[in-house]
This record gives sequence, structure tokens and C-alpha cells, in this order.
Amino acid sequence: MARALALPKCTSCGRPIPPFEKATSFRCPQCGEVIIWRCERCRRQGNPYVCPRCGFRGP
Ligand SMILES: [Zn+2]
Ligand SMILES: [Zn+2]
Repeated sequence: MARALALPKCTSCGRPIPPFEKATSFRCPQCGEVIIWRCERCRRQGNPYVCPRCGFRGP
């Protein structure tokens, strides 16, 4: 089965992030084990994210 290239998903809204978007990614500031992705829209709107591993919430 052919798979599309796996795109990172925005941690806030769950939307796949296209490569050309000005998204940001960083490690969870609390557990440091999860890469948090935020799409351009969520960055602008300051949407909160929740780390799927430790439950850390942050803007
Ligand atoms: Zn988003
Ligand atoms: Zn975490």
C-alpha cells in the first residue's frame, strides 16, 4: 500500500502541516520527549496545546 508522506500534525488543532507552512516545532518544555508542532494559524491565534505524553498545557 502506497502511503503519502507523513506530515507532522499540529498539536493544537490536529491539522496536518504542509511543508511550506511557517509552522514551529519544539520539544515539550516539561517532559522534553514529545515534539510539539504548531501550525501558522494556531501560532497567530495563540491556541493552547497539550502534550500527549505528560499533559503539559502551554501557549
Ligand atoms: Zn493548528
Ligand atoms: Zn510533555
